Amino acid sequence: MKLGAHISTAGGLHTAFDRAIATGCDTMLIFTKSNRQWAAKPLTTAEIDQFHHAAETHPRIAPVAVHATYLINIASPKADLWEKSYLALKIEVERAAVLGIPLITFHPGSHVDSGEEAGLAQIGRALVRLLAETEQTAAQTTICLETMAGQGTNLGSKFEQLAQLIATAENHPRLGVCMDTCHIFAAGYDIRTPEAYAATIAEFDSVVGLDRLKFFHFNDSQHALGSNKDRHEHIGRGFIGEQGFANFVNDPRFAHHAAHLETPKEDDDQPTAEMDAVNLATLRKLVLSAE
Ligand code: ZN
Ligand code: MN
Ligand code: MN
Repeated sequence: MKLGAHISTAGGLHTAFDRAIATGCDTMLIFTKSNRQWAAKPLTTAEIDQFHHAAETHPRIAPVAVHATYLINIASPKADLWEKSYLALKIEVERAAVLGIPLITFHPGSHVDSGEEAGLAQIGRALVRLLAETEQTAAQTTICLETMAGQGTNLGSKFEQLAQLIATAENHPRLGVCMDTCHIFAAGYDIRTPEAYAATIAEFDSVVGLDRLKFFHFNDSQHALGSNKDRHEHIGRGFIGEQGFANFVNDPRFAHHAAHLETPKEDDDQPTAEMDAVNLATLRKLVLSAE
C-alpha cells in the first residue's frame, strides 16, 4: 500500500512535494484551493508548469489526490446553492485534471431537511452533468464519492447510497469511491478484527464493487462504532485501534492503493511532535514483513 497524508500547499501547490517527502510520504492528498472559500483564482500557466515539474522530479509521490472544498453540497434542495456547489465541484475536477492529478474526492452532501431520496436525486443529477461536462477536460481524473459518517443529514454513510448514486450515473467509469476508515466506522461498519473487516469489505464488494474503491483516508475515530460522529483520531489511539489498520495495510487486494492520513497535525501531549510522521510510522509498523 502507498501511505501518505494530507499535505499543506502553503507557498504554492508545487511546494507540497518536498513537504510530503520530508514527512515520509509515498503519496499525498492536497487542496488545490482554499477549502473554506468558494472562489479561487484560476491556475496560472506558471503554477501548472511548476506543479508538473515537481511531480516529475518527485516520482516517489504518486498518486497525488485532491480533496474538494467542504463547502460543496450537491445534495442541497436549494437551487442556488446546488448550482453554486455544482460549478465549484466542476472547477475542482478541472483543476485536478490540468495538474495531471488522477483522483479527486468530495463529500456527497447533506439533504438538510429534504429527505434521503430527494438528496440522492440531487447528487445524482449533479454527477450525470459533471461526468458529461468534464468528459473532454478531465478524462483522466476519477471522481470519488467519499464514504461519510452519517453525521446530521449527510449522505454517503451507507454503501447502498453510494451504489445508488453510481447506478444513477450509469456506472460511469470515471466514478469511484474514497473509503474513509473513521467515517465508515462511525457509520456502523466494523473493521476492528480480521473477521469484522472481512465482512465489511465483502459487503462493500457485493453492494458497490471493489473495483470502484480507488483510495483511502486513514483516520482513527474519537467515537465508538455507529456513533455517526466525524471526529478523527491518531492511528491506534481511537476506537478503531491498530488491528483495524493492520487489516487494511496487509490486504493484498489493496497492495497498490493509496491511503492518506487526515489526522490532527499536532498531539495535545507533545506539541512539537510531527504527528503525520508518527502516524505513518505506526502504519508501517503494522505491515507484516512476510510478503
Ligand atoms: Zn473528506
Ligand atoms: Mn476523509
Ligand atoms: Mn472526516
